[in-house]
Amino acid sequence: MDIAHERYTQLVKHIPASTSMADMERIRAAFEYANAHHGDQLRKSGEPYIIHPIAVAEIVNELELDPDSIIAALLHDCLEDTDATYDEIAHLFGQQVANLVDGVSKLTRIQYTSKEDEQMENLRKMFMAMARDVRVILIKLCDRLHNMRTLQYQSTPKQKEKALETMEIYAPIAHRLGMQKIKWELEDLSLQYLDPVAYDEVEKELEELTSAHAEFLSSMQKRIEKRLAEEGIQCQVYGRVKHIYSIYRKMYAQNKTIKEIFDLYAFRVIVSDIPTCYNVLGCIHDMFNPVLGRFKDYIGTPKPNGYQSLHTTVIGREGIPFEVQIRTWEMHQTAEYGVAAHWKYKQGMANRQLGSEQEFEWVRKLLESQQDADPDEFVHTLRVDMFADEVFVFTPNGDVKSLPAGATPIDFAYSIHSAVGNHMTGARVNGRLVTFDTPLTNGDIVEIITSRSAKGPSRDWMKICKSNEARNKIRQWFKKERREENIATGRTMFESELKHAGLTLAAVTASAEVLDTLLKQLRFGSLDELYAAIGYGGMSAQKAAGRIKEELTRQGRLERQRAEQEALQAAAAAAGEAIFPASAKAPQPTAQGKTASGIIVEGLDNCMVKFSKCCTPVPGDPVVGFITRGYGVSIHRQDCPNADPARRKPDERGRWVKVAWADTADTAYRTSLDISAKDRDGLALDIATVLSAQKVKVNNLSARSQPDGYAVVFLELSVKDRAEITAVVNKLSQIPGVFLVRRAGSQTSN
Ligand code: MN
Repeated sequence: MDIAHERYTQLVKHIPASTSMADMERIRAAFEYANAHHGDQLRKSGEPYIIHPIAVAEIVNELELDPDSIIAALLHDCLEDTDATYDEIAHLFGQQVANLVDGVSKLTRIQYTSKEDEQMENLRKMFMAMARDVRVILIKLCDRLHNMRTLQYQSTPKQKEKALETMEIYAPIAHRLGMQKIKWELEDLSLQYLDPVAYDEVEKELEELTSAHAEFLSSMQKRIEKRLAEEGIQCQVYGRVKHIYSIYRKMYAQNKTIKEIFDLYAFRVIVSDIPTCYNVLGCIHDMFNPVLGRFKDYIGTPKPNGYQSLHTTVIGREGIPFEVQIRTWEMHQTAEYGVAAHWKYKQGMANRQLGSEQEFEWVRKLLESQQDADPDEFVHTLRVDMFADEVFVFTPNGDVKSLPAGATPIDFAYSIHSAVGNHMTGARVNGRLVTFDTPLTNGDIVEIITSRSAKGPSRDWMKICKSNEARNKIRQWFKKERREENIATGRTMFESELKHAGLTLAAVTASAEVLDTLLKQLRFGSLDELYAAIGYGGMSAQKAAGRIKEELTRQGRLERQRAEQEALQAAAAAAGEAIFPASAKAPQPTAQGKTASGIIVEGLDNCMVKFSKCCTPVPGDPVVGFITRGYGVSIHRQDCPNADPARRKPDERGRWVKVAWADTADTAYRTSLDISAKDRDGLALDIATVLSAQKVKVNNLSARSQPDGYAVVFLELSVKDRAEITAVVNKLSQIPGVFLVRRAGSQTSN
């Protein structure tokens, strides 16, 4: 048997016995297929290449993933390194396996170069976004783990490069997925190549300490086991030393010596259930002195990636601190294998895509719960799970750009620099020329072809692009580069919008006042600037026209008020001391003199008029006007006590003016009546009946009984003129019991 088959036999031995014969057969077929395709390819170590996929399949199997994952692990380098095709793999091993292999190959194709933190986070996001199926990430992590385990055969620059990549991309992803065991191994292997001197130093010091403390540690373990057995607790106790990278980080980041690190040693006590965890904790604290502030209840409050355990640090009699971690078997699985452990527990659910509901939910929660790690990171990770609205692509230099989903080469170009977008003449995606509206997909390498003589963006680009950044930059370009054109376009648009509103441009530009106010309101220095803004889309023509209309209306109103005010003042001055003779001929209505109020004020056109509340005059009533201060002319009946010439104040005499009724056929005037009657049942009803028969509009009717057996009824009516109100008064007077009907403000009955 050759070495390939030997290694394969080893793998098979560890595959769970529960695996079906059919699956075992598929696994064997995958091995034979990969073995045949890799042929006599060799690894740097000199071994046949097939040893690597077998080793990856072994690690996948250790994670207890499903048979499809083991098959995909065996085939994972076939697409990239041999003449095998996706279709052939799909045909032989099924679509699921082909997709897994394809997914791993895509991740393999990503070229990483070390970047700033933000770039790294984008890379991690792209990595996860591209994977789709969480198994792709898991297989890729196993692949990387084996490559790191055999990194000694690579050249020094290659070692550094892979180690850095592992530290920056793979270990954080393993951490995020809760896979501590793989994470630690990846970190330790990376450190070995990134800082070999420090690695050796820590390793050596640790070895010295551990061998010095070996006896102590084994006696501690025995004491713990003995005590817990006495308490009747079923458990498994493991002693362990922290992994090198975590010690290294503590020593260098916190500037501590190895002896100052409290949790160099740890014991793990694994029990069957949660209450037992707390019982064990009680025993431990009873046996040793706990170090203050070192107890952590990660069962009550799990760590961001789902990790659960009780942690406490205690000091033995020898003065050596050590940590005790207490957890259940299930917590242990999750701690070691993270998302993979979850996978195992959920076995039996078909088609567990990363995007599918349950799986997605779990990963999403995992990512979400990392919020306490770092608020910035939380925002980033939270967006990772919303793969749907982001797409990650590469620049030709290997920088990652994050763009909105559906983004096009236009978005990409403007995300690099507005000058790149403005001078863009073509685009290549993965080396192929594409149209500007081609949607980009995760992992695409995008190259923009520019030319100095490019004509600049077209307005259509604003509709094609998906990012606000691109849209704004295109708008900016139009704003700057096409001023003349924008002014012309803007002017046309504005004019047509004005026309729509029933205005002309001439009417707007004629009034400097209107124009100034408009420009000030919209914050433009000149009309051209306004046109330009409308032209490039920074201002809507509709809005500008709307403002104009409002402004014209406002100015019109001001104009009228000013004219009235002036006229009133002039009239008051002209009237002087003169009292309007009662015999004087009332002014005749003229076309201009006709007012909305139905009153003509002598010598005044279009003045404001109001009817006094005290006597509520209606057309036909002899009336007189009084020029008030600021409220126009107040109209009184001549028989109103307030208009009585005998009671007029001497200094106000000049303000009494002659007025007359104009032709006011269609207007209704409010007036009021007081009725005095003997109180009786049905009085109000009789009054209402009369008013109804007279077809008078009643605005208000209130009746009040007096203690002396009389009633007072107050009426507010709308009538056309004096004739109508006189008729109403006559009819009301005929109602039995009514003895007085009078117009408000009158001293006598009409
Ligand atoms: Mn590989």
